Amino acid sequence: EPSPHSSTQAAPGLALPADEILVGGRWRRGRGLPVRPLDPATGRELTVIQAASVEDVEEAARAGARAAADPAWRGLLPHERARYLYRIAELIERDTDELSALQTANTGKTRAETTALVRSAAGTFRYVAATLETAEDALTPSRGAYVTMSVHEPLGVVGAITPWNSPIASEAQKVAPALAAGNAVLLKPAEWTPLVALALGRIVEEAGLPAGLLSVLPGKGSIVGDAIVRHPLVSKVTFTGGTTTGRTIAHHAADKLIPVSLELGGKSPTVVLPDADVEQALAGVLFGIFSSSGQACIAGSRLFVPESLYDEFVGELVRRTEQLRVGPGTDPRTQVGPLAHPRHRDAVAAYVELARKEGGRIRCGGAAPEGEQYAGGAYYLPTVIDGLPNDARTCQEEIFGPVLVCLPYKDEEDLLAQANGSVYGLACGIWTRDARAAWRLAGLLEAGTVWINTYKQFSSSTPFGGFKESGLGREKGRDWIRSYQRQKSLYWGT
Ligand code: NAD
Repeated sequence: EPSPHSSTQAAPGLALPADEILVGGRWRRGRGLPVRPLDPATGRELTVIQAASVEDVEEAARAGARAAADPAWRGLLPHERARYLYRIAELIERDTDELSALQTANTGKTRAETTALVRSAAGTFRYVAATLETAEDALTPSRGAYVTMSVHEPLGVVGAITPWNSPIASEAQKVAPALAAGNAVLLKPAEWTPLVALALGRIVEEAGLPAGLLSVLPGKGSIVGDAIVRHPLVSKVTFTGGTTTGRTIAHHAADKLIPVSLELGGKSPTVVLPDADVEQALAGVLFGIFSSSGQACIAGSRLFVPESLYDEFVGELVRRTEQLRVGPGTDPRTQVGPLAHPRHRDAVAAYVELARKEGGRIRCGGAAPEGEQYAGGAYYLPTVIDGLPNDARTCQEEIFGPVLVCLPYKDEEDLLAQANGSVYGLACGIWTRDARAAWRLAGLLEAGTVWINTYKQFSSSTPFGGFKESGLGREKGRDWIRSYQRQKSLYWGT
């Protein structure tokens, strides 16, 4: 039966989900404050969603705990749970076009990128399902008078909190392993981008999972997110977002003594060595910072170039940056879309003002693009800045937009001091033909992920996470599901 608040026709062929959220197995209007997702290419409101309230979190947590304890879920064998996850992957793939269009409408990202994110979400469910089928508990047969065995149990209810920059992919990276591990999940998407998370809720329901296992609770972080983190039934929090928020969540997790996994901010260095393939490095540096309009935790936002190459390399980089095509994500020619929200565009613009005040040279960009086609949209030109020391705020703080700072270096020692001179340690890139130098630097750079002659590549089987203030814990890889379980050891006397 269609809901009275049913789908808004926001773009041709794009039906948005009705104004309902998923609370403990029921689709209904939330009892919280409204959230108003926008199309950042035009500034138009897409829909209004009555978000979750603290009472909705309470209802969802109780329903989740019941569903997780129900033999209909808890009693399933791993391959039986895996079947649901494969089904979710198939349904995501079936709806790729619709999900990609919805996400482009809500984030401004290009269709190529949102299609890749949707595929990545399907891949995550499939990888986790396959891992689940091959996971085994360990049995140590004979230790004298007993045999020992170690088994893994679900944690119960998991809280999953996600940011707005890679919707559906980041939600999948939490929901898939948490469900695979046998838990229920309370998912809170970012306030600006609740739509694909709600669409994922529909898909999980269609895949036939027991009601109440997944709740999708949009709303403000300080209300809904906070209520999830502090709820007594929530026994793990998995969070992706800013470092300040991550720290607050970690404090609450410490009070409850529950595990927390944190994927936080970054200011990742991308390093050109003297012998780099210049063409490859230029293309990689541009992609590393300007794809997703720089709204990526792993954005290569600090560029290090040897003094001897500096003027030539940065000059060419600036020329190419000026040629990037800025436009709406729906235009296939677009290389750099709008930022996710006008407020975020203003925050990025404020950082460029700060760079000016700090004495930086704005080599290109540094303003919103002019022209009628950009009116109302949250656009900002790809920007290259230099002339600042590594300890300037512009070089230290995460801008999370299309802003690259360039820094020259003298030698390897100077490079390492600068590149590692950051509170963050999420990722880095090295561009070189010298395998030994790459190996040596990869060992010395403080980052959870090192890309050599490539950037922003991901594989579900390769663990991902930050060093230093970029995070705690790892996602992906064979231990992914285990990180949502607790281990129990059994001893059998003979
Ligand atoms: P944010 O920290 O403001 O918000 C992230 C999520 O946390 C949102 O859903 C928000 O509503 C919620 N939240 C806010 N306050 C909360 C509270 N007190 N308690 C519980 N939940 C709360 O981050 P953002 O602006 O949405 O996202 C950008 C940030 O995310 C950047 O710093 C970026 O680097 C980081 N990020 C990290 C990764 C990674 O994998 N390391 C990936 C993507 C984004």
